[in-house]
Amino acid sequence: MMSLPTTDRNRLQQDLDALSAITEPGIPWTRRSFTPMFLEGRRHLEERFRAEGLSTEIDAAGNLVGRWQGEDPSLPVLMTGSHSDTVPSGGRFDGIAGIVCGLAAIGALRAAGYRPRHTIELVDFLAEEPSEWGLSCIGSRGMAGALGPEHLAMKGPDNEALADAIRRVGGAPEEIRQHRRTDIGGFVEIHIEQGPVLERLGIPVGIVTAIAGIARLRIRIEGEAAHAGTAPMTMRADAGVAMASLVLALRDAARAVEGQGHFTATVGIIRFEPGGANVVPGSAEVIVDIRAESDQAMDDFLVLAEKLASQSAAKENCRVAVLEKLSRTFAVACDPSLRAAIADSAGELNLQTLPLASGAGHDAAFVAQIAPAAMIFVPSRDGKSHTPEEWTDTEALALAADLLTRMLVRLDQRPETPRHP
Ligand SMILES: [Zn+2]
Repeated sequence: MMSLPTTDRNRLQQDLDALSAITEPGIPWTRRSFTPMFLEGRRHLEERFRAEGLSTEIDAAGNLVGRWQGEDPSLPVLMTGSHSDTVPSGGRFDGIAGIVCGLAAIGALRAAGYRPRHTIELVDFLAEEPSEWGLSCIGSRGMAGALGPEHLAMKGPDNEALADAIRRVGGAPEEIRQHRRTDIGGFVEIHIEQGPVLERLGIPVGIVTAIAGIARLRIRIEGEAAHAGTAPMTMRADAGVAMASLVLALRDAARAVEGQGHFTATVGIIRFEPGGANVVPGSAEVIVDIRAESDQAMDDFLVLAEKLASQSAAKENCRVAVLEKLSRTFAVACDPSLRAAIADSAGELNLQTLPLASGAGHDAAFVAQIAPAAMIFVPSRDGKSHTPEEWTDTEALALAADLLTRMLVRLDQRPETPRHP
């Protein structure tokens, strides 16, 4: 193997600074998808892609695709990238890390005079974060052919249909279905961890095992509203207390899930009715967010949650009025051969790695429907993400870019890049 170039640290820093500086004034670091600020970021990226020798296009689903033509057009495409849109205030590294690392790796290879056999593509996926249209991962869904008419009809600000919004950023929504990609030999996404594990363990590289499945449950417990001063403690049907005990029971049950990988259950919304300081709650409602690396663990927990809800309600003379599954996605395993290639490349660089699951959703989960896909995580300071304090050291990103450089060469020089079944 040729001696491989390392990442230009200064250039990487400049790319990070330049892209993150394109933010809504007053609310750093914000570039919401489909906004003028987002499009300004895209224009900047397009220039940078071209400066690194990539040809650029907006595909049917509105993704910005930079392309480095390989010597053998019959070989499948090797793809990397992430997203340049952000949540409000939380986009200094979330998303753009994967794009600037991709640019750095391609820049290093080109500077070294490398000529790839496979075409290499760097992608800025459209609208990975939940958008004003109520949908996330719009571009990667589209690339996978999973963006249907029901999605395209969803309405956003000013009643604009998602199809029109995609057209506005340069896509061709009517052609998304026929442009479902079938030519991708492998996809690797670099992303910040958005959690505390790598930093706590002092490990620079996370190799993602799977992207967790997510279920959301709406649970409503009903009791009887009463006067807080006159209803004796022994003669109540307090839906608030019943719900409080359910929240604790769910927490304990989630902690007790063992040996099935990453598992979390969170109550982030709770509402008591009628909601007066001097009123015993007559009803209480929560939304439970459950994330699991194992679909079996998720199935088991959903059954258990129902039992715990009945028990918590019964203890307080209340009843479960609603237990509704609002949504459910299944876990997506990362491709084993790509994971091994990441581990081998990290070994060459003497970088310690840790296998870990992603509790957050990512574009890679959709790309995995059409190609072998994998993810590399880099440490997040204090595990913070989706806040202005989100931080990852440039050197950590540069190491990930070094790893990506090796990984691309490794995949490019494999005798045969297996096509996805
Ligand atoms: Zn992200």
